[in-house]
Amino acid sequence: MICPIYTIVKQGKDFQINDKRFYMPGASIQMPCPECHVLKKHDFCEHYLSYPIANISPETVGRSGNLVHLQCEECDHEWEIEVAVNVSIDVVIP
Ligand SMILES: [Zn+2]
Repeated sequence: MICPIYTIVKQGKDFQINDKRFYMPGASIQMPCPECHVLKKHDFCEHYLSYPIANISPETVGRSGNLVHLQCEECDHEWEIEVAVNVSIDVVIP
């Protein structure tokens, strides 16, 4: 439960997560291969991001470096996507 009496101030600035191997258990992306349309799953419990930039602003999209390299096992097509890592904080025990 989130405590309603505290105010969280969000400045909207991005920052680098100082972790060479940043895993996110429970987070995954599913998407079809752009070539053969077979469904591809990328699990961030198994694959890490290296020093990702968190809370990227709209101006940073396309330049964050939060790139995930994907390869389709069916047709060997390779591509990259950019992901946003969003970190937030809430007060749960006052
Ligand atoms: Zn494919």
